[in-house]
Amino acid sequence: MPSTSRLSILAKYPFLPEARRYISEYGLTLESFSDPAYSKIVERAKQRIVDAIRLGEGVDPSNMSEDEVVELASFPLAIILIAAIKDRFLARRFALTEASLATKLLLDDDSKTILRIAREVFGMDVKAEEAQAMAHEYSMGLRDYLKGSMTFNAPSWKLVNRIVIRGRVMITINELIRLMKDKVMEYVLENIEKAMSRPPKLPQNLQKIIDEIKSTLPSKRYEEEIISGESSPEAWPPCMKLIYQNVMKGENVSHFANFALASFLINIGMNLDDILKIFAHRPDFDQRIARYQIEHIAGLRGSRTKYTTPSCDTMKTNGLCVEDGKLCGGVKNPLAYFRRSLRRLRKADKDKAEVEGERS
Ligand code: SF4
Repeated sequence: MPSTSRLSILAKYPFLPEARRYISEYGLTLESFSDPAYSKIVERAKQRIVDAIRLGEGVDPSNMSEDEVVELASFPLAIILIAAIKDRFLARRFALTEASLATKLLLDDDSKTILRIAREVFGMDVKAEEAQAMAHEYSMGLRDYLKGSMTFNAPSWKLVNRIVIRGRVMITINELIRLMKDKVMEYVLENIEKAMSRPPKLPQNLQKIIDEIKSTLPSKRYEEEIISGESSPEAWPPCMKLIYQNVMKGENVSHFANFALASFLINIGMNLDDILKIFAHRPDFDQRIARYQIEHIAGLRGSRTKYTTPSCDTMKTNGLCVEDGKLCGGVKNPLAYFRRSLRRLRKADKDKAEVEGERS
């Protein structure tokens, strides 16, 4: 296992501009990877993807190579392979895994390096504070802070709970690294998208690796139609349809939105295993944790209280109501919308059956 302090900065953070320059000066092309001399780079690129599938956020820096070129070159190669697999869920999971790896390395790094990357690479308006306000070593411009923390639900991130001095929000080093994690994820996703838009021709050995990885992806995940009968999205309110669609696309959905959807599905009577299948599309899905959370919301664990679905007012406060409720006829709770729409669908079915009966 390499000690992360011994790894060069380029190997640790392959998204740095100087890392990209180094690789382009090295003169590697996709054809180079058919040469056995570069097999270690190919193996490490494959391992990066396998780590994403198997470990996700649990990725371990001990899997990194001590060879700087292997570590550096395997990063863009893995991006090309992910783009060729064309699986958006895998792309997000890979981005999350790489961002988690960078986070673990940053937590072990010196504050000068962290600050430099935050400012120069991600353009964050952050600076070290001389007179430290309580435990906060840094401050961030209000705009950047609000933009970066927008999707975080923990009350500690809310602006009312922060120390703000002259338009700057005081943050700790760990909070800065948490904000940087999303920047790494964005960087990786953008590069996968770019590679997807102009897919290169790959040498045979890389195509073989892609086939091997594809065969390890769970096939059930591709089923969009896992919900049928009276739980069908046809009767759902627009807010729940939207959260559901975003979860199914493997997009980042806030904790509150996940809770709202899970409590809605439980309350309309969907089977817990089917709910779990929906949340399996999340890039950070962990079956054990997700099952526990769903069972907790359903009142089968902990306090044994079944949670109700958040009201429309609470959904609005959390920015989850669609078109300010204009499509929903004044309902107070998404469940009321569902029950009303179910009654309409049942009536329409009955009318149709009667018309067909009269015809026959
Ligand atoms: S009004 Fe209520 S049910 Fe309709 S979209 Fe908004 S939160 Fe959902």
